[in-house]
Amino acid sequence: MSQLAFTDSAVHPDEVTFFAEVILPIPVPRTFTYRLTRGMVPLASIGMRVIVPLGKKKILTGVIKNISKQSPDGYEAKYIIELLDDKPSFCEQQFKLFEWIASYYMSTEGEALNVAMPAGLKLSSESKIQLHPHFVKEESPYIFNQIEELVLNLLKKEDLLSYQQIAELANIKESSQLIKDLLRKNAILLIEQVKDKYKPKTVKFIKLDKQYTNPKALEMLMAKLEKQPKQLDILLKYLQELAVFKDASLNEKGVAKKHFSEQKLSLSSLNTLVKNEVFHEFEKIISRLDIDEENAVEVKIELTAPQQECRKAIDGAFENHQVNLLHGVTGSGKTEVYLSYIKEVIESGSQALFLLPEIAITTQMIKRVQKIFGKQVGIYHSKFSDAERVEVWNGVADGTINFIIGVRSSIFLPFNNLAFIVVDEEHDNSYKQYDPSPRYHARDTAIMLAHIHKAKVLLGSATPSFESYFNAKNNKYGLVTLNERFKKTQMPRIEVIDLKKEKAKKQMQGDYSNIFIAKLQEHLEEKKQVIIFQNRRGYAPYIQCDTCGWIAECENCSVSLTYHMRQHELKCHYCGFRQKSASTCLSCESSELKMKGFGTEKIEDDLHLLFPSIKIQRMDKDTTRKKYSYQQIIEAFETGETQLLIGTQMVSKGLDFKRVSMVGIVDADRMMFYPDFRAHERAFQMMLQVSGRAGRDAEQGEVVIQTMQPDHPLFSYLKRYDYEGFYALLLNERLQFAYPPFYRLIKIIVKGKEAKLTYEGAHQIFHHLLQTFGPKRLLAPHEPMISKINNIFHQEILLKLEKGHPLDTAKHEILKQVEALKADANIRKLRIYYDVDPA
Ligand code: ADP
Ligand code: ZN
Ligand code: ZN
Repeated sequence: MSQLAFTDSAVHPDEVTFFAEVILPIPVPRTFTYRLTRGMVPLASIGMRVIVPLGKKKILTGVIKNISKQSPDGYEAKYIIELLDDKPSFCEQQFKLFEWIASYYMSTEGEALNVAMPAGLKLSSESKIQLHPHFVKEESPYIFNQIEELVLNLLKKEDLLSYQQIAELANIKESSQLIKDLLRKNAILLIEQVKDKYKPKTVKFIKLDKQYTNPKALEMLMAKLEKQPKQLDILLKYLQELAVFKDASLNEKGVAKKHFSEQKLSLSSLNTLVKNEVFHEFEKIISRLDIDEENAVEVKIELTAPQQECRKAIDGAFENHQVNLLHGVTGSGKTEVYLSYIKEVIESGSQALFLLPEIAITTQMIKRVQKIFGKQVGIYHSKFSDAERVEVWNGVADGTINFIIGVRSSIFLPFNNLAFIVVDEEHDNSYKQYDPSPRYHARDTAIMLAHIHKAKVLLGSATPSFESYFNAKNNKYGLVTLNERFKKTQMPRIEVIDLKKEKAKKQMQGDYSNIFIAKLQEHLEEKKQVIIFQNRRGYAPYIQCDTCGWIAECENCSVSLTYHMRQHELKCHYCGFRQKSASTCLSCESSELKMKGFGTEKIEDDLHLLFPSIKIQRMDKDTTRKKYSYQQIIEAFETGETQLLIGTQMVSKGLDFKRVSMVGIVDADRMMFYPDFRAHERAFQMMLQVSGRAGRDAEQGEVVIQTMQPDHPLFSYLKRYDYEGFYALLLNERLQFAYPPFYRLIKIIVKGKEAKLTYEGAHQIFHHLLQTFGPKRLLAPHEPMISKINNIFHQEILLKLEKGHPLDTAKHEILKQVEALKADANIRKLRIYYDVDPA
C-alpha cells in the first residue's frame, strides 16, 4: 500500500495539486479523476474510500486507485468531498483483479467494485434534497407552481430534507414527481446521505466505582449490602469473575451486563447499584464474528493412508502446476485433505481461501473449521448481516483473519498475502454470477486471483466440470484422484426403474412405482434414513384445464405458475407474482382443472399419507427462508429426529449424514431433458452427487431412480460410477457441435419492453456481427426457454469462438459494433448484456 511520500523536497507540498484516480461503482468503462483538498493530501492513500460528486446531481462512494500530479485531460477535476477511511479498505491486488474481470467478462471496473464492496461499506442510499447552490429564483427561466415554491422556501430554511419530509410538509402523497420536476429546473440537488452504514457492535459492561478497588472500602460495601441480598449476589458474582480485591487493575476489564441476567440475577438490583454509583456502566466494541471459545479445543487433522498418498501426489503435482484438480469420490474426505494444506499455509503466516457453494457452508463445517483454526477464520456468506461482512472484510485487510471460508463473493476480499485457494465442488454452477454484471465465474476468477498473488489453487469435486477435467487431461492443470471412501464403504448400488413398463403393467401408485415404494418401506422399517430428491419445489409445476387445455401462466413472464398447496396459491418462480388458485378455467370456465407434474411439496404430502408414522421434513427454497431454518432441518436429520428428508438440489451439496441408506430420485427425466448443451452433464453430476449422500458409513447404500428412458446411456455410466467414460462420450458431442471445452461461448442478451423491437434489434445486431464473425461462429437470435420475465422480452445471440481465436479482439469488436449501432434510436431502447462463458 503506497502512502503518499513527500521526499521530493524541491517541491513544497502546498504548491502541488494532487489528483486521485477513482473507481466508481457504476457501469461506465473508465475511472474518474478528482482533486484532493490540501487537507487530504497527507492523509490520502491508494485503496481508501472517498465521497465524490458525479455530474450535477449525484454523490457517490468510490475507491482511490491511484494518486498522481497528473491533471485529467479534457475536463476540470472536481474536489473529493470526503475521505472515508483512515486506513485503506482495498489493496492493489484487488485493482488488478477488477481490471481483469472488466476485460474478461466484458464488464467494467466499476461494476466489479460494485459487487465486491459489501453493502455495509457503501453509503446509505437514503437520498436527501438540498437547494441548488447556484439557484436564484428570480434568474431562473422556469415557472414554479405553488407547491414547488413552498418546497423551495422550506429548503431555504431546512438545508436538507428527505423525500418523505417533503411529502409531509407539502401535504402531498408522493413527492418523487415533484422532486423530478425541481431537478429538471435545476433548483435542487440530490445528496446521497453522507454516512457510513457500518457501525461497530457494542455491549454494555459494568465496573466497580474506583473507591471499591480498595479492599477496605470493598469490605465495608459488602457489609452494607447484607440487607440487600439481591444486590449482594451481584457484587459477589462480579468479584467471582474479577478478583478485584487481589488485583485492583482487573476492575478496568469489567463484566458484561448480560452475564448477570444469564445467571438469573436481578437486573433491577443491578440497575439500582448503578444508580447508587457502586457500579458504572460503559460500552465495549466487540466483534460480531463470535467464536465459541469454550469449545476451542484444538483438533488435529489425521489423514488416512489413502489421503496421505493423495497429499503426496498433490504435492508432486504442485511442483509442475499452479492449479490442480482433485477428483475424489463422494465421502473420500476431500475436506480433510484441503484442511491439511490450509493449516500449513496459515502456520506459515499467509492467507488461505476456501470457496464453497453457499449451501455447503453448514454449522457442522464451520464448527469443525473453528476448532482447528480458532479466531483466524472468517466466514463470508449471504446469511450474514452487512455489518458482519464488514468485520470480515476489515479482518482480512488488517491481517487478523488469515483464513476465509466463503461463497463466490469472497474472492473479492482484500487479501494482500494469499497463498492458497481451494475451490470445493468446483463443478457447481452457483459459482457463476448471473446478475448483475460482471457475470463472473468464481472458480475461474479465483484462478486469476491466485495468478495475481502467485498462489496455488486446488479444485476439488467428485464430478468435475468438463472444462476443468479437460484442462487437467490436457496438462494445463495437474490431476490427482482419490478413489476410496473414508470408511472404505463401497459406492451405493444404483437401480433404475423403467416407469414406462411399470405404468403399462399398472404397477403404480400415483407418481411412484410399486418397486419404489416397496424399497422405501423396507429401509424405513429397518429404521434407516432416506433422502428423496426432486429438483422442483412447490406442489404442482402447472395446472391445466382438461376441457380446453388452458394452462395458468404468469401475467409477467412466459412461464406456467406453480401451485403451492400450503398457501393455496399459484406462484411465479421468476418474478414472484402470486395469486389465489382459481377453481375454474379462466378460458372456458370448466371446473376440470388438473394439477400436472409434481414438486417437493406434493411428494411430502404423498409420502405422509403412505407412511403416516414416519417423521418427514422437506428442504427447499420455501422451507429455508429464515436464517436458521436450513440448519434446523439438517440438525434434525443428523440426530435422527427426522427419518425421511425430501429436497431439491439443496440436499445434494456436500452434506454428510451417517445413517442414510437409501436415496430416491423420483423423476430423473426432468433433469435430463431440457434444451441446454450441458443438460446431460448436469444431470449426471446431480444424480451422482445425491447418490453420494447414501452409505457413507459402514454399510453400502442404495439408490433408486425412476425414469421413462432407462436405456439412456447416461444410466449405464452412472450405475458403474464411470465418470471418465461418460466424459469421453459427451466430449465427442461437444467437439462435433462446437461447444466448450473446445469452443468459447459469448452470449449477447438483448432485452426490451416490446417483443417486436427486441426481436428486430437482436437481428440488427446479429447481421452486423455476422460480417465480422461469419455464420459458423454466430448463431441467429433465438428466444431463450423463458422468453419473457417481468414483462421484459429476451433474445439471445450466441457466439462460438474456436480455441486460439483472439478473444480480446473479438470482445473489442463486439463492443465497438454494438456501440456504433446505438446511433439508432430503436437500439437505444434496448438493453444489451454480455455473458462470457455462460453456464
Ligand atoms: P467428501 O467431501 O470427499 O465427500 P468429506 O470430506 O465430507 O468427503 O468426508 C466424509 C466423512 O468422512 C466426513 O464425516 C469426514 O469428517 C470423515 N473423514 C474423512 N477423512 C477423515 C479423516 N482423515 N479423519 C477423520 N474423519 C474423516
Ligand atoms: Zn378450459
Ligand atoms: Zn412471473
